Formats: sequence, structure tokens, C-alpha cells
Amino acid sequence: MATKRDYYEILGVPRNASQDEIKKAYRKLAIKYHPDRNPDNREEAERKFKEISEAYEVLSDPEKRRIYDQYGHEGLNGVFKNGNFSWQNFSHFDDLRDIFGDNFGNIFEDIFDTFFGGPARGRSRYRTRDAHPRGEDIRISIPLTLKEIAEGTRKRVKLKRYEVCEACGGRGSKTGKQERCPTCGGTGVVRNVKRTFFGQFIQESVCPTCKGRGYVIKDPCPVCGGTGRVKKDVEIEINIPPGLRDGEYLVIRGEGNIGERGGVRGDLYVFIREEQDPRFKREGEDIHTEIEIPFSTAVLGGDVEIETVTGEVLKLKLKPGIQCGTVLKIPRKGIKRQNHTGDLYVKVNLRTPHKPSKEMKKLFEKLRELGS
Ligand SMILES: [Zn+2]
Ligand SMILES: [Zn+2]
Repeated sequence: MATKRDYYEILGVPRNASQDEIKKAYRKLAIKYHPDRNPDNREEAERKFKEISEAYEVLSDPEKRRIYDQYGHEGLNGVFKNGNFSWQNFSHFDDLRDIFGDNFGNIFEDIFDTFFGGPARGRSRYRTRDAHPRGEDIRISIPLTLKEIAEGTRKRVKLKRYEVCEACGGRGSKTGKQERCPTCGGTGVVRNVKRTFFGQFIQESVCPTCKGRGYVIKDPCPVCGGTGRVKKDVEIEINIPPGLRDGEYLVIRGEGNIGERGGVRGDLYVFIREEQDPRFKREGEDIHTEIEIPFSTAVLGGDVEIETVTGEVLKLKLKPGIQCGTVLKIPRKGIKRQNHTGDLYVKVNLRTPHKPSKEMKKLFEKLRELGS
């Protein structure tokens, strides 16, 4: 058996090196021995890269380092399988990611495919043998008037979505017979040999024939082609709470497509589209609107009526001498959203008579004389 080199020596750090020094040393060496940077000497670089990673795995972990300091390589027999470090023992892929970022090439993909059976990003395992895949989500958008938004509403909407195939009862087969998948032999996974610089590995992936189910339908239903579902027109009613904003959405669980062969339904996403209103402008939960009042009301004061966004009619007493452009605030007559209700802002405009009558003209002449 070849004698193993000392971990401190491999990383070129003193025995009392701090965690920071160890990390820095590893970083330097990892860059130096990255196999892609050593095309002329790739195998040697791969060996070195693994060696420094092993040293780093041990020395960066206080417990493993303590064992190593006390008992040497022997002490780690229980830590690494058969005492031999393999990439499966390496727990610092995040550090490699920090060091190399996106320039790390295919290495991450190889590592994660090989050891974790999934893509590097999510690090989730393949869900094999998922016999009843969930149906897809559906996204729709519904236009709402400001009044509907302010009050909340119920809407009937038409959807085209996958429903159970009645011909086969959702089983996907005329007779219900199934057969073990010939591609994977019923395991739902297929194995490929993959060669990476970490060595040769068996990679498992979802069987493409049965999609992980392990069986195939023997005599597919002619109506649904074996999927157990068909597209149908349906109508559903959606309850819309008041106060939603443009672009917000509701998730209605279990109203999406049904999955293949009895898989659970996906969800329905209902996106809210707020229609423009000619009279009201929304700002958050506040509503802005305008009224026109006759000149005489502006001068003498008087009662006016204002309609809110929900159609409620409010009577307002205007004081004499109100100026054109004055904005009146009517509290809590805007849009209600959860526990908060916005205000209504009313801008007062003056209505100038387009075609004043003879009599009006006479009176306005008089007003002019009075300097008004
Ligand atoms: Zn299969
Ligand atoms: Zn069918």
C-alpha cells in the first residue's frame, strides 16, 4: 500500500493553521490543479485535485481534523468508506462553486448527476416510480372592472382542461392490463455508465419508456391514447375577494389539469387584469375622481351628489366659495383590501355654461359690473 501524504503537507499549511488559512490554501491549489487548466497533464491534475480536496475535507472539519491530528490517516478509516476518500465524502461543493463560479465547466453537473442523481441547482433527486404524475397547472387571466374589484365578485369562466377519459375510466388501457416495462425491467430507472474526471460512474436516470412507472399499458385506450385523460370544455365558478390589484393572482388548488392515469390535478392560477375606468383612477387603495359643479354652487355653496366606485351615491354639502381644483377627501370610500380601506378624493371643477341664455347673460353682465 502506498503511503499517504500528510494532509498539512498537501495543502502546504502549518499544523496550527487557522480555518481561514486552510481555505485560502485550498482555493489556491484548486485553481492550480483544475483539470481544465491542465490540458497537457490532465490525469496528474485530476489526481492532485482529488488529493487536495481530501485534505481539505479533513482539515476544514474540526472533528475530522482532531481525529487526524491524534491518530493520523488510520484514524479516518471509519470516516471514509474503507478508509479511502471518494468524491461522495466531499461536502464542500459550495466552496468549489465559490472558487470557480460559472467557470467550473461541467464539473458540477458531473458531481451532482453522479452522486445526487439530479441537477446541480436544485439538488433534488429524481422522483422515480412516480406512477401518478400530477397534472399541469393552468394559468388564465380575467378582466375585472374597478367596481368588481372594489366589491369582490364571482365569475364563471370557461376552461379547456384535461379530464378523466371516460372510455377507459382514466386507466389508459382498454382492459386495464399492464405489462412490465421492457426497457427498465420494471425498476423505472435506467443506468448509464458515465465517464467524468472523478472516475467512471453508473448514472441512474428516469426510464424514458415508462417515465419511471415501471410498467407500460398493454392495450392503450383508443380515445385517450393511453394517457387516461382527454381535453374537455368545463365551466367553473371563481370567487374573487375584493381589493386585488392588477397582475395579482389567486391559486385555486386542484382546479388544473388532471394527471395522466389518475394523477392528481394541478392548480389553477387566476391572474387579475384591472380594466381602465373612465371615471375613476386607482392609486393603491385610494380612488380619484372629479365632479363638475355650477358656478352658482361654487359661489353660494350647496348640495352635490358623488358616486363612489361601487355605485353608492354620497350627498355632500359644499361650503360657499369653493375654489376650482379643490380636492375633497372622503375617508374610507376607496377600495377595501383586507383590513384597510382607501379614501375617495374628489376634485371639484367648475362648469361654465356653453351657451348662456339671454337671462343668464344679463345676470353675468351684472356680476361683471360688481367685479366678480
Ligand atoms: Zn421503464
Ligand atoms: Zn382512455
